[in-house]
Amino acid sequence: MTSPKFYQLSKSERLARLVEANQLSEKDAQFLAQSQPLADELADSMIENYIGQYHLPLGIVQDVMVAGKVYQVPMAIEEPSVIAAANNAAKMMRLNGGVTIESGQRVMFGEVVLTDLPQLADAVKWVDNHFAILQTVAQKAHPSIVKRGGGLQKITTTIVENRFLKLNLEIDTKAAMGANIVNTICEAIAHAVQATLGGTILLSVLTNAAFGSVVKASVTLNPETLATATLTGDAVAQRLIDATQFAQLDVARAATHNKGIMNGIDAVIMATGNDWRAIEAGAHSYAARTGHYQPLTDWSWTSDHQLRGQIAVPLPVGIVGGSIGILPTVQVAQRLMVIETAEELAGVIAAIGLGQNLAALKALVSDGIQKGHMALQAKSLAIAVGATASELTTLLPQLLKAPHLNTETATTLLSQIRA
Ligand code: NDP
Repeated sequence: MTSPKFYQLSKSERLARLVEANQLSEKDAQFLAQSQPLADELADSMIENYIGQYHLPLGIVQDVMVAGKVYQVPMAIEEPSVIAAANNAAKMMRLNGGVTIESGQRVMFGEVVLTDLPQLADAVKWVDNHFAILQTVAQKAHPSIVKRGGGLQKITTTIVENRFLKLNLEIDTKAAMGANIVNTICEAIAHAVQATLGGTILLSVLTNAAFGSVVKASVTLNPETLATATLTGDAVAQRLIDATQFAQLDVARAATHNKGIMNGIDAVIMATGNDWRAIEAGAHSYAARTGHYQPLTDWSWTSDHQLRGQIAVPLPVGIVGGSIGILPTVQVAQRLMVIETAEELAGVIAAIGLGQNLAALKALVSDGIQKGHMALQAKSLAIAVGATASELTTLLPQLLKAPHLNTETATTLLSQIRA
């Protein structure tokens, strides 16, 4: 008899298997087994007006191969089908050599905007000619990031509508996402510039259009990998390319295409204690950077008839800072991933986004999205109408055979089982 697959195990069996494979320590497995809430004292110190806690399930994508290394990737998410799809994609990508990362620069951008400057052109010249002075201001504002090898790298200036002077600050925040570091430096620079040039400081803050932290990842697949019971791999691959080209032309489709990508990205962002609002704002502003909202991935044939997928997305993630060092589950998630740098984490997250897109498009252009979702939807519905774990075994097969999968059907079937 073959041993059951990971998804067929109970939670405690899964944890035991991760420990057995040396992917999780005994201590971390015990922590996850207990599912303890945050200590009230800690939670109360994190936010204003604390009144309770909100829980999400934590799951795992197994064996995601990125740049030759295999990762166990945690996901915090409520949507039923996301982890199953990510695992499916991880397997397809691994069988084809995994995901390759093209590492680019990793800097955060901050904006300092001044108004009421009588001589805008002179102001631009002054800023352009006095970078060394402004860099010293930045160093004094945040000396520890400079000691870590980061800090202000560059300032560029733009006059907007002959009214606003905008300084774009490029800041290396090392292993942190860096919002607070950037904001501290922006405010110091704003005051230094105003002290010399006059004018009024309108605002000084980071921009979430984090185009200095774009990660590019790609995968090349033998189309045979995509074959289904009714379609050849070639046919699925061609339809996947067509669907991507349609998304390039149709904003309504591009938004959904990108939502599928963010299903994976956000879930890992959450599990690793990063700021998903920042990641969402960055991804969608990047998708719209040409003025025409575009899909974040592209799929095409290579010259030797392989299917190549690429993703480019800003991922200004941190492995320190914010709530990362505070939330115990985030620390377990980091240990599970065995991540050493923020760049490495960003690469794995880009790979997850690309895989999520592959799985979603494959389902969409072959069997349709609902077939795979049905069993998971039925389970959510059954739980929502009050089915217990033992009732699920009887209720689910009946629910899946019913002509309409809805609350009324689930409630009727459950009461028949209980009668
Ligand atoms: P922190 O303010 O926690 O700063 C990170 C700190 O980590 C640094 O100040 C540094 O302190 C310490 N650190 C330790 N090791 C390193 C290392 N290797 N590299 C870099 N720093 C290191 O967090 P961030 O500045 O990253 O800001 C992120 C937070 O800001 C998130 O919670 C986010 O939600 C929030 N935020 C987001 C905004 C947005 O996106 N628009 C706006 C405002 C806030 P030291 O050097 O002193 O040890």
